[in-house]
Amino acid sequence: MDQPRADATRRNGDGPGAGRTAVVTGASSGIGAATARRLAAEGFHVVVGARRTDRLTELAAETGATALPLDVTEPDSVDAFVERIPECHVLVNNAGGAKGLAKVVDAVEDDWRWMWETNVLGTLRLTKSLLPKLIASGDGHLVTVTSVAASNVYDNGSGYTSAKHAQAALHRTLRGEHLGDPVRFTEIAPGLVETEFSEVRFGGDTDRAAAVYHGYTPLTSDDVADVIAFAVTRPSHVDLDFIELKPRDQASPTRVHRAE
Ligand code: NAP
Repeated sequence: MDQPRADATRRNGDGPGAGRTAVVTGASSGIGAATARRLAAEGFHVVVGARRTDRLTELAAETGATALPLDVTEPDSVDAFVERIPECHVLVNNAGGAKGLAKVVDAVEDDWRWMWETNVLGTLRLTKSLLPKLIASGDGHLVTVTSVAASNVYDNGSGYTSAKHAQAALHRTLRGEHLGDPVRFTEIAPGLVETEFSEVRFGGDTDRAAAVYHGYTPLTSDDVADVIAFAVTRPSHVDLDFIELKPRDQASPTRVHRAE
């Protein structure tokens, strides 16, 4: 694994992120990987974390990021991760996902536990650990990737929608608790983005996952990374509190226009 420099303030060249460190969780695929690439291109020194470290190593080779193992569901892993990050200007709480689709009456507790541990407690752990460093930087920015599922419910989705609602409640609370501190808070709430999300949700069933994105043009990870990069490169007095982005053909979590 790539080792962070002793002073951990690796300079990545020019751009709005020059001299700033951005930490991206869940950067081994999808939105997290795209965000890491994009923030590196903006000049940030990027620290990427996830469980699949082979993928992180490739991303680090490509972008100059620092790759560190991270399991957001394990407090010891979070502690070890954070210990190696002495300075942090931007944190992107992105690690997360869904498991299964089931009515409440058929809820699978292990799936719920996975979703709550990853999306909610994972975000809590990283936030508790790195928020003091964001504030100490004098110009911090915390971005949390929630979902349209953080403001809506849909049939068979309660495990995920409840976790995303809780993650969003945590994030939105910070805005008031840290009013007056030098830190911004941005919630990014995407609709349908074609990533490994649905493969994970359906336990590796690639046909079922592909059907989610059939008949319309979904968002890409790069589309979301573009918006995150925009938010974190505004002047430091500008706080984009909440950004929802969906494909043109998506009106709500359950209403999608699909070509026949
Ligand atoms: P993805 O391609 O499946 O990526 C999920 C990322 O989360 C992976 O890098 C995964 O890495 C990481 N992750 C999962 N469990 C983790 C753990 N315990 N510790 C550390 N990292 C973990 O899906 P994605 O669409 O990019 O999802 C990123 C975020 O966007 C999630 O919070 C998701 O809920 C949200 N979102 C997605 C969509 C969508 O339609 N795709 C829409 C709205 C919101 P490892 O498995 O290597 O650990």
